[in-house]
Amino acid sequence: MKTNPFAARLDAFRSALRARKLPLAAVCGEANIRALTGIACDNAILLVRAKSEPVFYTDFRYVPMVHRTAPWMAVEDIAAFSGASTVSTCRAAGFESSMPYARWQRLAKAFPRAQFADILDDLSALRAVKTPEECARLRAAERLNDEIWSAAKARFRPGMTELDMARIIRHLMIDRGEGEAFETIVCIGKNAAECHHVPDKTVWNGRAPILVDMGVKLDGYCSDMTRNIVPPRPSRLYAQVYKLVLEANLRAIDAAKPGMTTGELDAVARDFLSAHNFGAAFGHALGHGVGLEIHEAPTARKGDKTVLRPGMSLTIEPGVYLEGNLGVRIEDLVLITETGCEVLSHSDK
Ligand code: ZN
Ligand code: ZN
Repeated sequence: MKTNPFAARLDAFRSALRARKLPLAAVCGEANIRALTGIACDNAILLVRAKSEPVFYTDFRYVPMVHRTAPWMAVEDIAAFSGASTVSTCRAAGFESSMPYARWQRLAKAFPRAQFADILDDLSALRAVKTPEECARLRAAERLNDEIWSAAKARFRPGMTELDMARIIRHLMIDRGEGEAFETIVCIGKNAAECHHVPDKTVWNGRAPILVDMGVKLDGYCSDMTRNIVPPRPSRLYAQVYKLVLEANLRAIDAAKPGMTTGELDAVARDFLSAHNFGAAFGHALGHGVGLEIHEAPTARKGDKTVLRPGMSLTIEPGVYLEGNLGVRIEDLVLITETGCEVLSHSDK
């Protein structure tokens, strides 16, 4: 019989509940449910019990899909959730603090006697370490992202706008994958000084640098990469900044290994850019985890104490932004291995 491909993660979550003396948790977040069961469903409550099997509550529309994709899972009507005896008599329950307030109010009513404990960090920590199957999906998504980038940039022509270029990328992502993991960022020239610039009607003259931050979704998993089209004759300042950002990116990739903290990894790039007087121009974190969602744990930011472990995914994306002038960011997705890291992005940089 088919079994839950995420059974080990679900078991680890149940151990976490026992360690926190919580008899159960009501998991509602779509990505959290998928990361524990493999089931993609946007209206469900996964009742995870510390000492017995989980129950999947959903509505009529999704029941056949759950039966087909997860035959091992007990399924109940979500309308019966609040009356279920394990719920109405429960004294302590785990919940995700990320849920919308209206949903939280409904959930709280179903647990009239329970004290609530936030289990979001436990779930995030478990999701940060990818299973071998998830690593394979991330590899495939990032590989497709590389292919789309080379197909897209071959179509860029002077006279096109940022919106035209973003549209080319978006269409390729829909054709070849499951669309965008996030809204594609295209910045021509000084627009790249805005880290998350929204593509507009700025026209490419064929000589300005272009920054593109893009990620395609494939089999439910995201990818993420930033590349720059460097003009043949960049300004001296642009050339200097590009070289330093690339060096910061390569140094961090070289340093990334299990056992170090994400704060230490961030410092590798940050200290290097600071030593060249661009520390203040690198105003964001070095990177973030990528998986079912585009931004997941861990976050590699200054001072963060999360210890890197094999199987963690992480972007390495140092950048330098000089307002009104230029911006360069170079972003790769890596997987932490037993000895260092595997770089999943293969596009030239
Ligand atoms: Zn990105
Ligand atoms: Zn990113």
